[in-house]
Amino acid sequence: MDTKGHSFLDRVFNILKDETADEVPLIQFKHPKELEEILSNDLDISINVDDKELENSVRKILQYSVKTNKVTFRNQLYGPMDPYGLAGTWIAEAFNTSQYTFEVAPVFTLIELKMIEHILKLFGIPGGDGIFSPGGSVSMLYALVAARFKKFPEVKSKGMQKLPEMTIFTSEDSHYSIIKAAHWLGFGTESVISIKTNSSGQMIVNELNKAIERQLGLGKYPVFVNATAGTTVLGAIDDLEAIASVCKKYDIWMHVDACWGGGLMLSATLRKRLQGIQFADSISWNPHKMIGAPLQCSIFLLKEKGLLHEANAAAAQYLFQQDKFYDVRYDTGDKSVQCGRKIDSFKLWMMWKARGDIGLCKVMDHVMSISEFCLRSIAEREGFRLVSDTLQCPNICFWYIPVFMRKREENDEWWALIHKITPKLKELLTLSSRLMIAYTPLRHHKNFFRLAFTFHPVLEENHVLEILKSIEECGEMVNTDMV
Ligand SMILES: *Cc1c(COP(=O)(O)O)cnc(C)c1O
Repeated sequence: MDTKGHSFLDRVFNILKDETADEVPLIQFKHPKELEEILSNDLDISINVDDKELENSVRKILQYSVKTNKVTFRNQLYGPMDPYGLAGTWIAEAFNTSQYTFEVAPVFTLIELKMIEHILKLFGIPGGDGIFSPGGSVSMLYALVAARFKKFPEVKSKGMQKLPEMTIFTSEDSHYSIIKAAHWLGFGTESVISIKTNSSGQMIVNELNKAIERQLGLGKYPVFVNATAGTTVLGAIDDLEAIASVCKKYDIWMHVDACWGGGLMLSATLRKRLQGIQFADSISWNPHKMIGAPLQCSIFLLKEKGLLHEANAAAAQYLFQQDKFYDVRYDTGDKSVQCGRKIDSFKLWMMWKARGDIGLCKVMDHVMSISEFCLRSIAEREGFRLVSDTLQCPNICFWYIPVFMRKREENDEWWALIHKITPKLKELLTLSSRLMIAYTPLRHHKNFFRLAFTFHPVLEENHVLEILKSIEECGEMVNTDMV
C-alpha cells in the first residue's frame, strides 16, 4: 500500500507556525517575472521530489505569499481569520464533506439549517429560507434568479424569450457583481439602471423613484432593486426603509446586499443602522469579510420559504432519490446551483458556538469604536484628509497629502498629482512591507485610500496610530520625480 503523503501531514503545523510567525514580514514583494525566476525550480512539476524537498518548496512559496494574518493586511474587506474559524476550516477540509445530501453530511446538514435559522432571526426574517454560497457574487445570482422566478416561474422551462424586458436598479456605488449577474442570467448589462448616490454614498431614493417611473414609461418591467448595506468603498448604508416602501409601492423584489455591512446586525446598538432590512425579500451577507470567517463563507437569505428549492431544483434521480430510507426533506442540496458544496456553515458555527451572540456583539462594537478612533485621528492629523466624515460601516477613506503639496492652491493640476501620489505611496508601503492598503478613485474623487477594519486580530488604538505613522513616513518619501 502506498502510504506516501501521510507523514507529510505531520510537517504542516510547523510549516504554518514558522511561516506566519510574528517576525515574518507581511510581504516580500517581487514582480511576476522575478518571482517566476526565484521559484522556477519550486513551481516545476515535471519531476517529483521527496518530502524534504517538497517542504522546502512549500516554505519558499509561503515566504513570498502575503501574510493575511497580520494587523497590517488592510488591502481588502477580508482580513485575518478568527482562530475558531481556522480550526473549523481545518476540520472541514480534513473531513472533505459535500453538503448536498443528509446521507453524506448528516450533522453538517443540521448545522447549516441551524445557522440559517439563527441568522434569519437576527436579520428580522424568521421563517424564511437560505443557503450558504461561495461568495457575495454568487449570492447575487441567487437573488436575481429568485426574483425573476417569483414573477415568471415559466422562465425555468421556457427561458426569457417571451418575457417582458426586465430592468434592475442599483446605486452607482454598489458592488459590480450585479453587472456580471445581469449578463450571466441573460438580462444584459444594459438592463441595470444605476441610481445616483449622495455625498455619503447612499442611494438617492427619490432618484430611484424617478428611474422606476421612467422605465415603466418606456414599457420596461422593473423586477429588482438592489439596496446596499455597506458599500465596498465608503461603507455606505442605503436608506433601507425608504427603499422598502418604494419596492412595495411598485411591487418590486427588494434585495439587500449586506455582504460587507451585515456584521453590524450582530451589535445590539449598531443594527439600527440597517433598519428596514426586515422588509427585504432577500439578503446576502459575507461572514468571510468583516467578521473573519475563513474564505469562502457567504450566506444568502430569503423571506419566502420554499422558493429557493422551487427555483433551483433539478431533481436529479441519482442523488436526490425520493424513496430513500430517511426523511428526504433533509437533502437540502437541490436548493443550490452547485452540486458538490463545501460545508462552509461549519466554520461559522465554530465561531458562533465559541463566542456566542454576546461575544460577537462585543467584537462588533469594538471594531466600530476603533474605527471611530481612527476617523478622529485622521481628522485631526495634519496631512490627512477625509473623503467622507460620516462613519456608517468600519470604512475610513482619506487622502494623504505630503508636506510639499500642502498650502498650495488645490486646482485640477494639484488633484491630478494627488491622483498619482496615492498609488505611489501604496507602492512604497508595500515594498517596505509596512502596510497593504486599498486605494481607488470614486465618482469625481481622485485616488484615495480606504482603511477597513475587521474583527481579527482585535485591534487597539496603538495599532491604528502605527498604521497612520507608516503612511506618514512613506508619504514623505514621495516626491514629484517619482510620479
Ligand atoms: C465583496 C462584496 C461583494 C462580493 O462578494 P464576494 O464574496 O467577493 O463575491 C458583494 N457586495 C459587496 C457590497 C461587497 O463588498
